[in-house]
Amino acid sequence: MRFSDETLLDIMYRFRRELVKGLGRDTNPTATLKMLPTFVRSIPDGSEKGDFIALDLGGSNFRILHVRVSHEKKQTVQMESQIYETPEDIIHDSGTRLFDHVAECLGDFMEKHNIKDKKLPVGFTFSFPCQQSKLDEGYLITWTKRFKASGVEGMDVVKLLNKAIKKRGDYNADIMAVVNDTVGTMMTCGFDDQRCEVGIIIGTGTNACYMEELRHIDLVEGDEGRMCVNIEWGAFGDDGRLEDIRTEFDRELDRGSLNPGKQLFEKMVSGMYMGELVRLILVKMAREGLLFEGRITPELLTRGKFETKHVSAIENKDGLTKAREILTRLGVEPSTDDCIAVQHVCAIVSFRSANLIATTLAGILMRLKENKGVARLRTTVGIDGSLYKMHPQYARRLHKTVRRLVPDSDVRFLLSESGSGKGAAMVTAVAYRLAEQSQQ
Ligand code: BGC
Ligand code: MG
Repeated sequence: MRFSDETLLDIMYRFRRELVKGLGRDTNPTATLKMLPTFVRSIPDGSEKGDFIALDLGGSNFRILHVRVSHEKKQTVQMESQIYETPEDIIHDSGTRLFDHVAECLGDFMEKHNIKDKKLPVGFTFSFPCQQSKLDEGYLITWTKRFKASGVEGMDVVKLLNKAIKKRGDYNADIMAVVNDTVGTMMTCGFDDQRCEVGIIIGTGTNACYMEELRHIDLVEGDEGRMCVNIEWGAFGDDGRLEDIRTEFDRELDRGSLNPGKQLFEKMVSGMYMGELVRLILVKMAREGLLFEGRITPELLTRGKFETKHVSAIENKDGLTKAREILTRLGVEPSTDDCIAVQHVCAIVSFRSANLIATTLAGILMRLKENKGVARLRTTVGIDGSLYKMHPQYARRLHKTVRRLVPDSDVRFLLSESGSGKGAAMVTAVAYRLAEQSQQ
């Protein structure tokens, strides 16, 4: 799980080749990176205003936001938000039930915020791969992460949500835009820094988007300007191209997952899987008598019992104490040496994650540098996601490796403080402004 810089660069080149493959008309159908056009052409220009609702579904939380963008001297954004539950039995049931639930939560939110009588434009952050031919349409290609509601793949999620809202009949909503969470993140950060042209999520799942030259996007007409492309990098390696670096633990984890053979890169790096990878390693070490004097408990053998938040805790300042607590709960009666060893395992797995994300991000940065034809790249990367935010060392390791892999660059990493919802509202605001203009 430890890579030399030579290997990291090698992975970066593989990723770059896949990017190009995904952009080409003839090569796209067989490419692992779907390079989905988003129909977002620029970051906010500062003239947007109005009242918006943003839905954010598919990350670690389902959130609804009321966003007010106003202009008094300077553009300012006010937000109120609420988190709603998405229980397992709903996200694994039928799509109808899922969207009824979303529509119900939206109704509840509007009621509580006294906006049920208004028909506010809605921006929908939907954190899954969607095929789009315009901003307010999104055909779900495949579920990822924890979601698996039936009858949604291949369908337009805007239509499904509209249908669920109509059926209720107690309020109106106009869904103006569907955006991936990476795009929402880029837009949120773009609001504060005009140079932002990449958006990354390192959370439950992982993915990135960036601004590509339209002339390189075969799937969209036109040669002028740029468009944001949702890479869907979680699927990197689904064609076997990462087999040399995948381990027996990665394979075992994949076999026990909701979507075997899919999202192989995501499974090596993201928050939904990292704790589970550590657990599989601990089981093997215990079996070989290298940990816990060979003690193996039913808890240790239970999938999901060791979580990514535990990895973060164990790598934090009082990590050894935390390790003892967490392992004791698994019933393995750890010695001090066990705790130290487990801390090492956590560091190796989380370091691998940061290194791998550094290679793919470096691939994007090299691409931007080439597109611009500059000797030195100056850019801003907007980032969000629970793993990036909660792990004590992750961000530092990632930044360091990226700067080593792309030496001719000044990269600013900007944390999206308010998540991707604000960005979805900004996309909606832009769409709303354009729609108003075209009616005048
Ligand atoms: C999804 C992406 C999403 C990412 C981060 C992945 O599983 O396929 O669309 O951006 O998770 O939420
Ligand atoms: Mg999110």
